[in-house]
Amino acid sequence: MKKMETDVAVVAAGLSGLAASIAAAENGVRVVTFEKSNTTGGAANMGMGPLGVGSRIQREHMVSLTPGEAFRKHMHFTHYRVDARMVRDYYYKSGDTIDWLCDMGVEFVGVQRAFSAPEATRPYADGEFTWHVVKPEGGGIPGPRAATAMTKKMTERAKELGVEFMLETPVHKIIMEDGKAVGVLAKDKDGEEIACRASAVIVATGGFGDNPKMIAEETEYEFGKTIHNFAIPGMKGDGLKMCWEAGAGKEPCIMELMYQLPDNMNHFILDGAFRQPCLWVNRNGDRFMPEDQIGNTTFTGNAITAQPGKVAYAIFDSKLLKKYKKQGPDIVSHVHPHDLYDHFDEQWERDLADGYEPIAQADTIEELAEQAGIDVDGLVAQVEEYNDMCDAGFDEIFEKDRNYMQPIAKAPFYCCRQNVGAYGSLGGVKINHKTEVLTAEAKVIPGLYCVGTDACNIFGDSYPFILSGNTMGFCLNSGRIAGENAAASLDDFEY
Ligand SMILES: Cc1cc2nc3c(=O)[nH]c(=O)nc-3n(C[C@H](O)[C@H](O)[C@H](O)COP(=O)(O)OP(=O)(O)OC[C@H]3O[C@@H](n4cnc5c(N)ncnc54)[C@H](O)[C@@H]3O)c2cc1C
Repeated sequence: MKKMETDVAVVAAGLSGLAASIAAAENGVRVVTFEKSNTTGGAANMGMGPLGVGSRIQREHMVSLTPGEAFRKHMHFTHYRVDARMVRDYYYKSGDTIDWLCDMGVEFVGVQRAFSAPEATRPYADGEFTWHVVKPEGGGIPGPRAATAMTKKMTERAKELGVEFMLETPVHKIIMEDGKAVGVLAKDKDGEEIACRASAVIVATGGFGDNPKMIAEETEYEFGKTIHNFAIPGMKGDGLKMCWEAGAGKEPCIMELMYQLPDNMNHFILDGAFRQPCLWVNRNGDRFMPEDQIGNTTFTGNAITAQPGKVAYAIFDSKLLKKYKKQGPDIVSHVHPHDLYDHFDEQWERDLADGYEPIAQADTIEELAEQAGIDVDGLVAQVEEYNDMCDAGFDEIFEKDRNYMQPIAKAPFYCCRQNVGAYGSLGGVKINHKTEVLTAEAKVIPGLYCVGTDACNIFGDSYPFILSGNTMGFCLNSGRIAGENAAASLDDFEY
């Protein structure tokens, strides 16, 4: 067995692990960071940018939201069922964290709120300008993976500060002595066991999005059946299991919900093209929400969860498709390509020919329902009622925005099944506002910290898209808080 010794051992080099490593190293302590994969950045490499409140960029853009206002908004959204002190410390640090990133060379294209739509139906009508979207490497319009430019800069900064990265070296155990965390056990890519003594351990392994068994055990979903979440390889819940084994208290785990198509990155055009306020029904053929709200991906994920079989169907006709092609979408996604409908036919024909199961096309509503697996009589009746309301110009059921009351009348008809999706899991390890791991009785486990999605217990039952960029925001700030506190705790440590 190889033996090592350091001040702070960080378990994982994803977003929160990088923030923790840099913060600890900036405070003059030795840091060894163990990472399971062959690269740093974790799921953050897939995303676009973090939340910040009170950053220099926001001040330059005259965004006046204060950390205190964001705190109150967040607590209102979560009905005060989460740790107010943690939430408070997070928001008060978040603006400075964006400045901290800028100072290490990260560039942002600006700050925005999620999704544009007419003010009256904006999916995050009370959304704030908190999402600091990272400027992609080489410029261009930001899209998925833009944030890789941020994790690269953070990795460079960590290396400059002397952080030692151990790639392809997953940690499998926290070493505990007399109730205190004193190091970790890891295994390198050649299978050699490593015991690393440390005076503080920070766990940051990114949740369990890639662990169907844990998804079934810890949430109400079944992977690949009732949820089609991103399963970033390696996110097996290692950190949660290790912390629980070390005595950590357990907090409820949730999935960071949205909705998406199965294998959506390979069907991204269709994934975006049906995110429109057309006609949305459940398996019985019934509408279940005002479709002008479907841009709120979290709420739509929740609404689909409440439907039979946890599925929904988005339907438009050829007239609506023609309109989208000519005028663009009714609701613009900042995530999907802006020229979606230019590529629609090509992807649609290819996916139809390949038998891509969520989609259906037919010349009658009956045929469409049959192909898609929707109750035929239910859908026929619903389309009739919906079209009548479109003719009258008013949605008597949900008062959907009149601009979107467009009938489903002209064949061919297009249908795409929508599934609950998620970015990954959230929460599970009980921590305090210093990110120290707590037992079920809220006693601090000395030397042990947990950050990022493993410990993100602050959203209650739903991701607060009104303050967008919130997961990366929490990951960065909890990581930074842990790194600083772990370094400060070493002052008292006796070697
Ligand atoms: C497609 C997509 C887009 C997103 N866009 C955004 C966005 O724009 N804004 C936003 O706020 N959030 C976004 N998110 C969410 C955000 O990226 C994640 O919540 C965030 O990266 C999680 O950070 P983390 O540090 O907890 O975990 P991660 O960044 O995922 O890192 C976890 C790391 O742990 C490593 N690991 C796992 N087990 C071990 C082990 N045993 N030992 C050592 N290492 C281990 C993994 O290899 C990985 O590198 C997005 C997510 C996805 C999937």
